[in-house]
Amino acid sequence: MSNKQNAGTICVQGGWKPGNGEARVLPIYQSTTFKYSSSEQMARLFDLEENGYFYTRLANPTNDAVASKIAELEGGVAAILTSSGQAANFYAVFNLCESGDHFVCSSAIYGGTFNLFAVTMKKMGIECTFVSPDASEEELSAAFRPNTKLLFGETISNPSNDILDIEKFARVAHSHGVPLVVDNTFPTPINCRPFEWGADIVTHSTTKYMDGHATSVGGAIVDSGNFDWEAHAEKFPGLTTPDESYHGLTYTKAFGKGAFITKATAQLMRDLGSIPSPHNSFLLNIGLETLHLRVARHCENALKVAQWLEKNPKVGWVNYAGLESSKYHELAKKQMPNGTCGVISFGLKGSREEAIEFMDRLKFISIVTHVADARTCVLHPASHTHRQLTDEQLREAGVAPDLVRLSVGIEDVDDIINDLQQALGE
Ligand SMILES: *Cc1c(COP(=O)(O)O)cnc(C)c1O
Repeated sequence: MSNKQNAGTICVQGGWKPGNGEARVLPIYQSTTFKYSSSEQMARLFDLEENGYFYTRLANPTNDAVASKIAELEGGVAAILTSSGQAANFYAVFNLCESGDHFVCSSAIYGGTFNLFAVTMKKMGIECTFVSPDASEEELSAAFRPNTKLLFGETISNPSNDILDIEKFARVAHSHGVPLVVDNTFPTPINCRPFEWGADIVTHSTTKYMDGHATSVGGAIVDSGNFDWEAHAEKFPGLTTPDESYHGLTYTKAFGKGAFITKATAQLMRDLGSIPSPHNSFLLNIGLETLHLRVARHCENALKVAQWLEKNPKVGWVNYAGLESSKYHELAKKQMPNGTCGVISFGLKGSREEAIEFMDRLKFISIVTHVADARTCVLHPASHTHRQLTDEQLREAGVAPDLVRLSVGIEDVDDIINDLQQALGE
């Protein structure tokens, strides 16, 4: 009998494993520091020679328990929580790249990540080349340079809903001796486990479905433990040569499969400090306890809404990989047999103004800069998150000017459709 549990059990039981007489529910260790009786013991912790807690910026028991639940859900060996999804993606890349390095990224990614990679990291001397998620292996390969350190993509892109062919991207990354990093925010490990398709590192904005109730901004990075850093040691000196800021310790030698996450903790968290508060991790954990139930309901509702929208004469187009009309339907069925996510993008016939008036007429479906929580909500990227862009720039970013992003919640689906119907003026 395998002692690996299924996702639904890990959601409820993973992470916190109380001993005899300990709290059944994950406690909130709302403490910056931890007490020791010998100076020698504390010194060993500082040298990473012993496991233990001493300062919450480096490690905290509440944060660690939730990170280990997420690692288990993804089938990885180790994970770290961050204060936001932005911090998770930044750390995942910055843990492998330094000034003078380069990486390749699918162009179908979240706008905040695009800005981080294209503008902010460029100022740090790290360059990114964007490629279409639909590019052939030859086209993807052509974007690689001798100083390329990773390939990056989103399993399901926010907001354009494109599906990443993880096996194809992994093949190309591995043929160039670099890892594939995948942002798995939208499907969550309930619907897709990118490691099973060859990805090496997974990131999350836990702000979305994982928290699920729109209470806490947060992020996570998970390592599969599969990428052989030593086999490409010349590309990853940060992992495979001594770290002078840790007394000459070499991460791959000292920590094996834990090297990537230990380096992210010991260097990046130590120096940049984007930790979640233990209280937010506690809330995230409560969200995770029902993730498997909510994701299934989000998908069931979203498919019904997408099918209804597609039949509506006022709707020009619907992009949802669960629909047979989607060019990603077959790929989605392969990588995500139980469904994709609750987010649909669509456009109304007529002008950009039509979309705005439709949204203003919605009753309980609210206009918010958020996706992927229990409440159904909408956003018009061209008027909101991407409002500084011209129509031309919007198209380049893969966001149609008329695109409405509808995040279908877990309310009763008939009520969601009724609200959409009255807002369409029917
Ligand atoms: C929201 C989001 C992010 C950024 O996460 P924050 O938690 O808002 O910092 C990154 N990637 C994807 C796919 C997202 O949807």
